[in-house]
Amino acid sequence: MITVESKNKEKNCNTCIEIKCAEFRDVNGARKSPFYILTKEDIQKLKEDIRAIEAKESVFVFNCDLVRGTGYIDAIDIIAIRGNVFPDTTSDSNHPRDIMSARAVLAHEYYGHRTNRGTNLVSGCREDEYRASRTAAEITPNLTNEERTHLILDAIERKREAGIVADLDSFMRRLLYGD
Ligand SMILES: [Zn+2]
Repeated sequence: MITVESKNKEKNCNTCIEIKCAEFRDVNGARKSPFYILTKEDIQKLKEDIRAIEAKESVFVFNCDLVRGTGYIDAIDIIAIRGNVFPDTTSDSNHPRDIMSARAVLAHEYYGHRTNRGTNLVSGCREDEYRASRTAAEITPNLTNEERTHLILDAIERKREAGIVADLDSFMRRLLYGD
């Protein structure tokens, strides 16, 4: 697996250092391939999602070849969209990162990462990813409860993968347990 850190070393490129989420499928990924080329219809559907979450369309670049996967590029304030924005509907995975909708991914990038542009968490680190999913779950307009829940479960998973048990705040508890 190529991590964001190892890619930085490999290329020693300043832009890469700023790439967040370049490897969206970093754990047991079962989303659509990032090499799948988005069709006109796919892009139309994604634009509807972008409008639904009240995001600025000009930030999104479809089939972007600057990166290997869907992600926010902090340095140039662009959200690169590639095939892995879609879940792989043929997979039987139940990992929240695999099954979350394209709209939830767009929310993770736009409201999660872009909102925190320029802050100094290491790009792509667990804490950065946790924050992105946690933030997007709460502030993105027009997500379903299921989409918010997937984002929260993803945030929890990001910590768990690092051996940390996430503290659930009241928003997270309300969404997960209804209390
Ligand atoms: Zn991310």
